[in-house]
Amino acid sequence: MTNYSGLKVLWQGLTGNKGWKPVWREPEPKAEYDVIIVGGGGHGLATAYYLAKEFGVTNVAVIEKGWIGSGNIGRNTTIVRSNYLLKGNEPFYEQSMKLWEGLEQDFNYNAMISQRGILNLYHSDAQRDAFARRGNAMHLAGAGAELLDQDKVRKMAPFLDYDNARFPIKGALLQKRGGTVRHDAVAWGYARGADMRGVDIIQNCEVTGFQMDGGACVGVQTSKGNIRAKKVAVCVAGSSGRVMEKAGMRLPIESHVLQAFVSEGLKPTIPGVITFGAGHFYVSQSDKGGLVFGGDLDGYNTYAQRGNLPVVEDVCEGGMAIMPMIGRSRLLRMWGGVMDMSMDGSPYIDKTDIDGLYFNGGWCYGGFKATPASGFCYAHLLATDRPHENATEFRLDRFKRGAMIDEKGVGAQPNLH
Ligand SMILES: Cc1cc2nc3c(=O)[nH]c(=O)nc-3n(C[C@H](O)[C@H](O)[C@H](O)COP(=O)(O)OP(=O)(O)OC[C@H]3O[C@@H](n4cnc5c(N)ncnc54)[C@H](O)[C@@H]3O)c2cc1C
Repeated sequence: MTNYSGLKVLWQGLTGNKGWKPVWREPEPKAEYDVIIVGGGGHGLATAYYLAKEFGVTNVAVIEKGWIGSGNIGRNTTIVRSNYLLKGNEPFYEQSMKLWEGLEQDFNYNAMISQRGILNLYHSDAQRDAFARRGNAMHLAGAGAELLDQDKVRKMAPFLDYDNARFPIKGALLQKRGGTVRHDAVAWGYARGADMRGVDIIQNCEVTGFQMDGGACVGVQTSKGNIRAKKVAVCVAGSSGRVMEKAGMRLPIESHVLQAFVSEGLKPTIPGVITFGAGHFYVSQSDKGGLVFGGDLDGYNTYAQRGNLPVVEDVCEGGMAIMPMIGRSRLLRMWGGVMDMSMDGSPYIDKTDIDGLYFNGGWCYGGFKATPASGFCYAHLLATDRPHENATEFRLDRFKRGAMIDEKGVGAQPNLH
């Protein structure tokens, strides 16, 4: 396994970059593992990494039907933040932010973590009051927040349309520690770190069913044959409903498509991440100069990883409402990903009623930023059979108990579309 150092990068650069080795192995599946993780997205790979690194559980396989990074981990708009309100959520997302802050050193991989700040614009006095409350909750969790008036936002982003007749910009809630991370590098970094510790990453292998014995889950059926496991941990994001159906479970999740857009490369313009508070639009600028932006779901249930033109219009209208200059840039590319939308907008990290079967999902629009804490807390649950203290509310039965986490900050739930 190659280790990275400044010297090595320099040497490889001088010698034609011919000495790099594959970053993870391509093993054949063993007959049995202690833990099988279904889904090699960000969350599945992070779970495997923390299981091995923090809990010493290394007899683990990650089974991925496509290739590492082919799902939402490689399709999102790369925004990370911990600006939540409710106590079921905020400590969890702050844990994730702290893990992001040390991640590159932790797995020795460049994930281009850039804490360039996130500005949530507000457009009315009522919205300012709501943001003040959210900011206070963030302070209590140690996340840091600043409520900015219009003058301060103007200094940071002079190009915004402050005097828009319908949606005047009155100020913003700023989280300086928020920002962007190169999404696919996160998958690669976790994959490398897990593989180094003995985890088998098995790509191009679809889980087609579960092996059951006396009502307990004892393994998975796959396109490469049956594999037994003491614990099976499902982590398939947008495919949650389809996969858990094979275990006879119906989830409080709907799958919807969400699109992302990238413009041609421009000179540095957008200082950090900016979100529209009166509609659904968010934008940042990549290091290559492209404006990376998105907005609403397409609004119908689907497993297709592509969207439709009405949402393109809707998203661009949102952009034009706060920054009319965006109309002059040309769209370079766009794509879709399948979102596992839960009914209150918050996720699940839980044991199921079936012995040996665990579930992680319901991440809605916001699962990328959750990747480190989701992996850590899921690994904790799998290793100890107890929920991590920051994930105690993410239970599958919370609707039955009337204990929803009705947090607007995680993105609109499907019934709002
Ligand atoms: C356009 C878009 C923009 C987004 N922007 C943001 C953002 O800015 N910030 C943010 O925090 N979040 C964002 N998200 C959400 C975030 O990307 C997801 O919530 C998160 O990536 C989901 O977790 P994952 O990485 O594990 O998912 P995935 O990468 O989708 O991993 C799931 C994996 O399971 C595999 N799988 C499915 N079925 C099977 C099977 N039967 N057998 C084996 N493997 C299977 C899939 O192939 C896939 O690789 C965005 C999402 C999209 C689509």
